[in-house]
Amino acid sequence: MEPTKFILAEKGIPESWYNVVPDLPFGLEPPLNPATREPVGPEAFAPIFPEEVIRQEVTAEPYVPIPEEVREIYALWRPTPLFRARRLERALDTPAHIYYKYEGGSPTGSHKPNTAVPQAYYNKMEGVKRLATETGAGQWGSSLAFACRQMDLDCTVYMVRVSYDHKPYRRVMMQTYGAEVHASPTELTQAGRNILQENPDSPGSLGIAISEAVEDAVANDDAKYSLGSVLNHVLLHQTVIGQEALQQMEMAGEYPDVVVGCVGGGSNFGGVAFPFIGENLKNSRDTRIVAVEPSSCPTLTKGRYVYDFGDTAGTTPMMKMYTLGHTFVPSGIHAGGLRYHGDSPVVSALVAEGLVEARAYPQNPTFEAGVLFARAEGIIPAPEVNHAIKATVDLALEAREAGEEKVILFNLCGHGHFDLAAYEAYLAGNLVDLEYSEEAIDEAVARIPG
Ligand SMILES: *Cc1c(COP(=O)(O)O)cnc(C)c1O
Repeated sequence: MEPTKFILAEKGIPESWYNVVPDLPFGLEPPLNPATREPVGPEAFAPIFPEEVIRQEVTAEPYVPIPEEVREIYALWRPTPLFRARRLERALDTPAHIYYKYEGGSPTGSHKPNTAVPQAYYNKMEGVKRLATETGAGQWGSSLAFACRQMDLDCTVYMVRVSYDHKPYRRVMMQTYGAEVHASPTELTQAGRNILQENPDSPGSLGIAISEAVEDAVANDDAKYSLGSVLNHVLLHQTVIGQEALQQMEMAGEYPDVVVGCVGGGSNFGGVAFPFIGENLKNSRDTRIVAVEPSSCPTLTKGRYVYDFGDTAGTTPMMKMYTLGHTFVPSGIHAGGLRYHGDSPVVSALVAEGLVEARAYPQNPTFEAGVLFARAEGIIPAPEVNHAIKATVDLALEAREAGEEKVILFNLCGHGHFDLAAYEAYLAGNLVDLEYSEEAIDEAVARIPG
């Protein structure tokens, strides 16, 4: 392959993605058609995804080769560094060895380009001219805009209006890459017009924006839709993180006793954790795998493991997953990427089967951990990541109590440079810890059909 940046760097980029599904000691339940309750076949996804993406969604291959052209673009920032957080260890006075994989050095500052690039690539290969997607605060929209530019595809992003108005910088980033960005709800789709008719001042929501992007892709033959988390093919692409980490831990001469990641839809968590779960299953390792979420959106820790819709409007196939109910409206915490009612079906099954443990924290203690990390290690993490850091700090303090030299690895999946308003609120003492309400969950769960 043509050396894009460092010849040495390319040697560290995996040649395939790791698929954990065939190694699982249990079967996964298929997506269902909500009307018939029959499993939906891959053809149900054909209007919105390219064939290769649909094939990867259901593949039983243990390793899926990464196309050379995707690896060349990965080489703009991969392999990403694995750091040992010695200064954090010292600040905590812990015998634990803390490592973190840093995904914040990607062009858009998070792990999301790891899947945006291959998704854009497969669409390009199949003759698609334009991708449509939704974005909340803009992490996903900016990553897909970057990937489309690399592949010479047009990109349309439906951005939740409240973010469009109040968080302009990610929008400008998308526009800089050449994407067309609309404040959702728009007048361009039936879904958007319906909402605006009822409420012309609607602030929008991720659920509405998804409906608009999907409608756009279905209505236009040369356009398709792209999703940034939750689905199997997205988590598959993210396993470049964990596979690099496996190699790098070996170079460091250590192996993690615990792997930690934050969970919104599950993609950065699955990305770092699946290769280590594979080692547990195939090579008798017994690494503890910890998934961390906000206590105001406690999908894995307080949700129900049932069939539910992926979107608020209830238009997607139903998936068996931990869910708070597709009508659940999470409170406005600053870790926007973690405010999703459901979770990846694979991550959900791993939690249900006891192969992954889940914990939840309120936002103030997570920011406290994030600030401690920033002061020790220099990197200001995205608010989502602070959940993983809080769990890591707790585990390191437990190791101190027990006098154990535990090896902990967490995924620092994005920097917080676009989230400084959240840090400002935390430093000023203005962040509130909103607890979930058990009644709100019961109510939303009661509205899931069946
Ligand atoms: C999008 C995002 C998340 C949440 O999504 P996952 O699919 O759960 O990884 C977490 N952290 C950052 C920095 C993000 O951009």
